[in-house]
Amino acid sequence: MSDPTRPKGPKIIAVANQKGGVGKTTTAINLAAALVEQGSRVLVVDLDPQGNASTGLGIDTADREYTTYDLLLDDADLKDVVHLTATEGMAIIPATVDLSSADIELISNEKRSFLLHDALRQPAMDEYHWDFVLIDCPPSLNLLTVNAMIASHSVLIPLQSEFFALEGLSQLMLTVREVRQTANRNLRIEGVVLTMFDARNNLSQQVEQDARDNLGELVFETKIPRNVRVSEAPSFAQPVLDYDPTSKGAEAYRDLAREILNKRISTTA
Ligand code: ADP
Ligand code: MG
Repeated sequence: MSDPTRPKGPKIIAVANQKGGVGKTTTAINLAAALVEQGSRVLVVDLDPQGNASTGLGIDTADREYTTYDLLLDDADLKDVVHLTATEGMAIIPATVDLSSADIELISNEKRSFLLHDALRQPAMDEYHWDFVLIDCPPSLNLLTVNAMIASHSVLIPLQSEFFALEGLSQLMLTVREVRQTANRNLRIEGVVLTMFDARNNLSQQVEQDARDNLGELVFETKIPRNVRVSEAPSFAQPVLDYDPTSKGAEAYRDLAREILNKRISTTA
């Protein structure tokens, strides 16, 4: 996609929430697929030692010789760590459990908070012409997540439509504020997206109401419904957009991509 109003280099978005199981990986994979479907070129960076995004996009553990760990701590070449996926226009830098030790190794590294920032701004990045980089963060506010926030233009927060959903959000926002004050002045909140939404469930509606009351415009209009096709897709190593293109889940991620693309155009024009 050549958009003359677009700033140089990809827009980098960290998909973050320190709670596990809220839909970070699902959102990273499927938003990436939806952005690709709408004409963008997208790189997913798997920053979670669990490597769920890598598995969900069909990168076997045996094929993960070079990973995010090597990118951050071993100065690996981009061409070695970037793996193509079955979806044309989408690539991933995969992760393995090795990454779980990175958090500790980073502590003794002087440039510890800027490793991902620097890796994603190396000149070789330009050759890929990515429009977006989506970083799938671990379920923690550790140094890996801080690396993601420092490397990013914005943070996208999946919020599970469950009891206690908003709990912990203030801590996440505090981390964003700290990163802004210290290392990345321009870090934005891309938005908060309600995930696993069940319209028939009063609790889902209550969470939506609370989120919109407290966070206002930060909450995306699009809600991602709880949809069994979404949860099945990773075991077929596919985004739901490929696994079941007409499912409610696929449609919702397309809507989310549209909201993000529209915002991007309105903020860069
Ligand atoms: P996280 O990365 O935040 O830990 P995941 O994206 O792995 O969360 O999602 C947690 C679980 O919920 C996974 O089993 C996933 O398949 C399931 N899930 C996520 N989003 C949906 C959805 N919209 N509908 C149904 N299941 C979902
Ligand atoms: Mg995950």
